[in-house]
Amino acid sequence: MIFANVIVDRKIKELDRYLQYFIPAKLEQVIHVGSVVTVPLGKSDTPTLGYVMEISQTPDYDLDKTKTILGLCYDRCDPNRQMLLLAHWMRLRYGVTTAKALSVVMPVKTKCKAKETIFYSLQCTPEVLKTYFEEAKRKKNMRARYRLLQALMQEPTIEESIAVEQLHITSAVFRPLVEQGIIQKEKKMLPRLQNQDYFSKQQKPVSLNEEQKNAVHQIVEEYQNGLKRPCLLYGITGSGKTEVYMELIARAIEEKKQAILLIPEISLTYQMVMRFYKRFGDRVAVWNSRMSKGERYEQYLRAQNAQVDIVIGPRSALFAPLPHVGVIIIDEEQEDSYHNEFAPQYDAHDVAIYLGKMNDAMVVFGSATPSLVTNAYAQSGMYRRVCLTSRAVQGSKLANTHIVDMREEMKKGNHSILSQKLQALIEDRLDKKEQIMLFLNRRGYSNYLQCYQCGEVLLCPRCDISMTYHQDHILRCHYCGASKRVPACCPKCKTVGKLQPMGIGTQKAQAILTSIFPKARILRMDQDTTSKKDGHQKILEAFANHDADILLGTQMIIKGHDYENVTLVGILLADRSLNLPHFTAAEKTFQLLTQAAGRAGRGNKAGDVVIQTYQPNHYAIETAANQNYDRFYEKEIFYRKMLHYPPYLHMMTILLQHEKEELVCQKAVECIQAVKQDMETYQVTFYGPMQDSIPKINYYYRQCITMKANHRKELEIIRDKIMQKISDTTTQKPLKIFENGAATSKYFTNNPKDVIIEFEIL
Ligand code: ADP
Ligand code: ZN
Repeated sequence: MIFANVIVDRKIKELDRYLQYFIPAKLEQVIHVGSVVTVPLGKSDTPTLGYVMEISQTPDYDLDKTKTILGLCYDRCDPNRQMLLLAHWMRLRYGVTTAKALSVVMPVKTKCKAKETIFYSLQCTPEVLKTYFEEAKRKKNMRARYRLLQALMQEPTIEESIAVEQLHITSAVFRPLVEQGIIQKEKKMLPRLQNQDYFSKQQKPVSLNEEQKNAVHQIVEEYQNGLKRPCLLYGITGSGKTEVYMELIARAIEEKKQAILLIPEISLTYQMVMRFYKRFGDRVAVWNSRMSKGERYEQYLRAQNAQVDIVIGPRSALFAPLPHVGVIIIDEEQEDSYHNEFAPQYDAHDVAIYLGKMNDAMVVFGSATPSLVTNAYAQSGMYRRVCLTSRAVQGSKLANTHIVDMREEMKKGNHSILSQKLQALIEDRLDKKEQIMLFLNRRGYSNYLQCYQCGEVLLCPRCDISMTYHQDHILRCHYCGASKRVPACCPKCKTVGKLQPMGIGTQKAQAILTSIFPKARILRMDQDTTSKKDGHQKILEAFANHDADILLGTQMIIKGHDYENVTLVGILLADRSLNLPHFTAAEKTFQLLTQAAGRAGRGNKAGDVVIQTYQPNHYAIETAANQNYDRFYEKEIFYRKMLHYPPYLHMMTILLQHEKEELVCQKAVECIQAVKQDMETYQVTFYGPMQDSIPKINYYYRQCITMKANHRKELEIIRDKIMQKISDTTTQKPLKIFENGAATSKYFTNNPKDVIIEFEIL
């Protein structure tokens, strides 16, 4: 008799253990470790999906209590051995259930050949819609439908997979709406984007300069007869890191191995990917979050069958089922997007190192502005540090940087968003037909609306945060997504016509620029203009084609885009990111500013960078202006050490959320009490509980606790203890370990009794 030890696909702590089932005779030959099966679960034997983790000859329970596997799921992709190992590792490291970890390490879950894409659009009359919408708005069990309708009122049609992904809804939400005639379903064929024209145009590689050759040599050496440490490739912008990656990849391919290259954002892949297509032809697979299920499955199969040599993509590309990975590269390693904001909150660096060990693959982190942590590890010898110090293209110069003190501008009577310096330079470039990038880290029209009569600021009804004013008299909350029309009068003092937009966002900046430079062609790029499929690419392509003079946008414009004709970059307000309430604020600002500076003058023309700020003497701004990473690192690491922040210590943040403020406070206190003894044993210090920097999001009050320790392991132990003590008593004490979303997750449809708790270890 043969048994299967199964993990059921339920992301609940109590079920995160092996359940044993009989393998029926007819399936004995086909079921193996990794098989996806249906099993009966619970008193009512609900058919439930499960993963076979072990095959066993010995029964764990009484035979008459052991149930039988119902069937094999032929339409599912089986996790391979490596995925199972990864999931196990993630479970321990990040404290999630195996089922949750598996859902992350399996990039594709269902076999799906369908090339048709499903779209939805509104079908009913405005009156019917209004009634339904109002009802959905009121009722908690209709929140998902409410979000969908809200989205459809802004866009004529919406693709099912995008709606599911971006609105956090399940496909079950559509059916009742279709049945009641509120929306209609359409199937359309989408042409597959496969860059065919580039396949033929393979290019000869450039010959590497001495510094690049040396870098390749050092990395290869580290793995051939060295300590096999991960390598930090620290090279200034334009020093030719990408060419080094390509050389390492080419060498892996020669050894019949494959490569994974992570690139932070979809917008970054466009030019980068072209370079890879040109060099490696159709052996390149590009993964992105906008692929349809069919496309995803196709790429998955290509990787599995070794039909590709390189997978390029965001962090999820780490989980490409390549047979033998030889090199894993993380470009722009300091980017936030390598950190999964949803549970399990994994860090791509850690996963890359783990995968590298499993496959005996080289691991390379590349950056011009390495994250503090990575650089600290490289300094300490835990990573190998490899440097590129000069630009690869002869004659290309670093940009001239100008810091403009906006307080001085005000004193001179200039209240415009443009300093005199920046305005003069823009005029100059427009005359010369050169291009300009302007950066402002806030979308929308203006920051908030304030009543001139009584001073009231319009807040989001669900969150303790001001709503952003958008064009067409719409107020939007950037935290929960809520939107509403601007009221006719102030909600507090009822005065009519005194609500004034305050501060400035990209929409308003665009309007102002248009009035100052009426002839300039201006493109705006932010979340609002890029939400549609290929939105990023369309804007970037238009700018690359010189269909615009000025590209204005949020930080998505300054990441890695390479335009020869851009000779001026303006940062309209550098202070916004500096003032964020997080210990990494200075680091983030430095990275943003140096990246922005790197965008100017990449060709032969010298570039200018103008940084407008109210804090011109802040070290992050000064060092960024001089492109002096080492100086910045010195200053910042000093503060981290003094103030006891990572990388000197490990830090765990615990976030608790609930609709009732007293309850969430009480639970936070209980959390600390539950591990007070253990914290002493493991020398863990704690701070809090206290209000989170955003005290309320989407009706949920937020309390947080911070813990610090010398080793990560100690914090993992404390985390697991808290989780264990909580789940022992779930019946009387509501506390739910939250696995679906992140700290800023927008919508909770869970049982309203649950207090939601999340852990993050840095
Ligand atoms: P990074 O990734 O460090 O910003 P890139 O690899 O994009 O730098 O290189 C910057 C520019 O220099 C690119 O246009 C690239 O083609 C060119 N380049 C890099 N290495 C060489 C080389 N060895 N010879 C000639 N051009 C090079
Ligand atoms: Zn809100």
